[in-house]
Amino acid sequence: MSDCLFCKIVKGEIPSKKVYEDDVMLAFWDIAPQAPVHVLVVPKKHVCGVDGICADNAGDVKKIFEKIPKIAGDLGLINGYRVISNVGRDGCQSVRHLHFHILGGAQLSDKMC
Ligand code: AMP
Repeated sequence: MSDCLFCKIVKGEIPSKKVYEDDVMLAFWDIAPQAPVHVLVVPKKHVCGVDGICADNAGDVKKIFEKIPKIAGDLGLINGYRVISNVGRDGCQSVRHLHFHILGGAQLSDKMC
């Protein structure tokens, strides 16, 4: 997707503070952190959101979820963390490229919204 912000970050056309990268995913610091640790994990292949997960890309999503605990551990989130994916307009998804927020580094709110 040529006009997708996270595709441009994946391609290195827009800089990011990289946390982890392999052939399937890129993890980088959120530009506007909402917790002391706020990292985004995105698949390298464009998927619009959780609503775009299908048999063709579910393997990449599986690999991302297998890797998130390792990324969180490397970030020092020993007391826990939150993983969020906003979906669509009502979910306040601002970037239509599937991504998972990893939030932690402090006691988070017990409210979900
Ligand atoms: P969402 O609102 O769930 O779609 O999340 C998009 C996230 O991308 C927000 O938390 C933004 O702060 C973050 N973001 C937007 N532009 C950038 C960027 N250039 N580098 C890192 N994070 C970004």
